[in-house]
Amino acid sequence: ERPNSLHASDIAHSMHPYTNMRAHEEKGPMIITKGDGVRVHDDQGKEYIEALAGLWSVAVGFSETRLADAAYEQLKRLPYYHSFAHKAHEPSIRLAEKLAEMAPEGMNRVFFTNSGSEANDTVVKMAWFLNNGLGRPEKKKFLARNKGYHGITIASGSLTGLPGNHKDFDLPAIPVTHLTCPHYWRWGENGESEAQFTARLLKELEDTIEREGPETIAAFIGEPVMGAGGVMLPPEGYWPGVEAICRKHDILLVSDEVINGFGRLGTTWGCQKMGFTPDILVTSKQLTSSYMPLAAIIVNDRVYDAIADNTAKLGTFGHGFTGSGHPVACAVGLENLAIIEERDLMGNAARLEEVFQSGLRSFADHPLVGEVRGTGLIAGLELAKNRETKESFAPAGSMAPRVVAACADEGLIVRAVYETVALCPPLIVTEADVAEIHARLGRALDRVLAEVKA
Ligand code: PLP
Repeated sequence: ERPNSLHASDIAHSMHPYTNMRAHEEKGPMIITKGDGVRVHDDQGKEYIEALAGLWSVAVGFSETRLADAAYEQLKRLPYYHSFAHKAHEPSIRLAEKLAEMAPEGMNRVFFTNSGSEANDTVVKMAWFLNNGLGRPEKKKFLARNKGYHGITIASGSLTGLPGNHKDFDLPAIPVTHLTCPHYWRWGENGESEAQFTARLLKELEDTIEREGPETIAAFIGEPVMGAGGVMLPPEGYWPGVEAICRKHDILLVSDEVINGFGRLGTTWGCQKMGFTPDILVTSKQLTSSYMPLAAIIVNDRVYDAIADNTAKLGTFGHGFTGSGHPVACAVGLENLAIIEERDLMGNAARLEEVFQSGLRSFADHPLVGEVRGTGLIAGLELAKNRETKESFAPAGSMAPRVVAACADEGLIVRAVYETVALCPPLIVTEADVAEIHARLGRALDRVLAEVKA
């Protein structure tokens, strides 16, 4: 019983994203009231380690007052201005400069949006605008991957390769081909080695381009390490192979680093760890630690020049948001990146990678677990009824939520994505926090196992 008016009000008035609304009417919300480093508290006074960093995003933890101060100072100085039609303000200028400094060589231009979805919509429009400007309007299609996640708006949701995001929404609504998910454990065929799997996927890419015609394909988009589809790592050689094929056919390569960027994999960018250089890099989430909504698209000089040439012909790039480069969000982003640098949080992710990942790998022979995978400070435990045959528990997608619920009881917030339990703790975690994450997860797995056996 929760005699809590917020609880009743939420049930009466709120429509939650990604939620079974009828189930929510029964179950009600988990109301989070307070943050404290890697921990959050609910309205019942229970404390949790937030091992998904909110939505894969709160790098600096949940109580960084420097970000609150940066927002307040900016709100007092200039709470809002835009950057349409030659207007500018210091926070967005400084943040664009900072991102260009951090970006891979030759990527010097930045466009801001409010969210990752809007950023990927913007990428689609940039690619089309660029090709129209070059006199090749038929070069329009996108290549993406099954299980990839790129957002939920009409265009970005089309790029996303998850059936639940298409079904009932009439998507894809833009021309996109989804290729095989580069996750060997699940999609490797019987007897196929990892190298053969990589070669098969690269051949599929080449064949698709040949079949559809390179003159019709604008871009390939992918997350270096897939996040929201279930934390999936590509096999060795996959990304360099994709890069080479894109270069050969003059297809733009887009690295969606909304989760991977700013040290999540232990390197500044996911593309660095995976060994490729994109033409366009999309970032959000850890850019501001999600204290304010903000996303950034960083493009290389070639892409910028083609777009800029077309604006010179047409007079404008007819695209932008009221909140593009919002001064408060940019001020928070700058301070957040300063903290990440000063405290070497990307280095912290690299240093803790081994202890975080090896502790999780110790669950690899747990009877509920099929595969443990991860890199840096992101990981997934895919649950399976039978590790050898990779058969999932029935009904599909039922076991991960059970483990996630048991984790919550143990004071650990993680996330169920299909059959996988995802972990992505704030970059400020300590070795002691990591040990506590492992301990709580282990207790949750054992509890669910005991229930399953009973
Ligand atoms: N791209 C990736 C890789 C993401 O993980 C997400 C969100 O999780 C998005 C895009 C969409 O971002 P947003 O939810 O801010 O629209």
